[in-house]
Amino acid sequence: MATAYDVDPAGLAAILAGEPAYRVRQVWDGLYRRAVWPEDMTDLPARLREELGRQLPAALSPALERTADGGDTVKWLWELHDGARIETVLMLYPDRATVCVSTQAGCAMACQFCATGQAGFRRHLTVGEIVEQVARAAAAARPRRLGNVVLMGMGEPLANFDRVWPAVLRMVRDMGISARHVTVSTVGVVPGIRRLAASGVPVNLAVSLHAANDRLRDRLVPINRRYPLDVLVDACAEHVERTGRRLSFEWALIAGVNDGAADAAELAAIAGPLRAHVNLIPLNPTPGYPVRGSAPAVVREFRDRLLGLGVNATVRSTRGVEIDAACGQLAARAASSPAAGPGNAAAGDPGSADRGADEGAHGSVLSVAKGKRNAQQAHRIGAQTRVP
Ligand code: SF4
Repeated sequence: MATAYDVDPAGLAAILAGEPAYRVRQVWDGLYRRAVWPEDMTDLPARLREELGRQLPAALSPALERTADGGDTVKWLWELHDGARIETVLMLYPDRATVCVSTQAGCAMACQFCATGQAGFRRHLTVGEIVEQVARAAAAARPRRLGNVVLMGMGEPLANFDRVWPAVLRMVRDMGISARHVTVSTVGVVPGIRRLAASGVPVNLAVSLHAANDRLRDRLVPINRRYPLDVLVDACAEHVERTGRRLSFEWALIAGVNDGAADAAELAAIAGPLRAHVNLIPLNPTPGYPVRGSAPAVVREFRDRLLGLGVNATVRSTRGVEIDAACGQLAARAASSPAAGPGNAAAGDPGSADRGADEGAHGSVLSVAKGKRNAQQAHRIGAQTRVP
């Protein structure tokens, strides 16, 4: 049975056969524009709400919910129909909200420092499983408008392009989220970057770079052995040229590995001509890659070197580290904890997770430019969050 956000308009029309024709648009708008479940669409007759509730089930079952940052960051661990688990993170700001969604259960990219990569690949998410994460975040964010989507949670989005792209189009065309506020991240899946560039839809591209020479990048990000830096840079240039969108490079700073003057110079040589913005994130260790993130003074020095070389760079401060907000951490922790599981939702319990958790490559997006948050505007949503 198709889930609510997996069904397409033709499938919905088939389910609504015998109803007035306008019902298809009405239910579609309810799901996408208003992010409400059929059972809660009070503009439908009660018998139809009940019927649609049976025919359009949810894909995501809440397994765990955590809040941090005074309620401004919410992380969900969802269980799927086959027992796979994925994560979604909602970040609330005074006047807007951003969601970071997963695109695969696990990941096959095997980046050395990433909790998701260390856990391995399980399967691609469906269009509905991706879109439903956004719909649930939109409902939880109210009264704020969910204005930004980053595909930077578990998984490599461009390795699941055939499902990710239809999901992005539904966000843009059906949910009303501007393409300019959708960011697709990748560790460097070049064919996917070229397909993005050819799409004509001006989404943002964020490349998790982490190393600007092939020797080091081959080690940190194994996909580099298939698509080395010169090939990756060409694809990035094509995306910039064809979409006009700004490119960003994510750079997790690892002590003694990629935080020296030579690293900054190599990065500047790539980022400068592309006019790319660099986001710097100090890395914290994962169990499978127990190295240290760069010290704050080294991070500042690295940023200043980039600025001195004419490259825009921002040091990001992590959101939700106390709830394992970087990709794959909550799932990994839940899998190893007998207390975690369906029915053990822990809303508002950030203190139960270790502090100082790691920051994965794609977890970089769970960070915010320093100073942007307004703590005075903190809103608790945790246990009050309505999961639609
Ligand atoms: S950093 Fe991203 S691409 Fe690399 S293993 Fe983790 S989830 Fe996969």
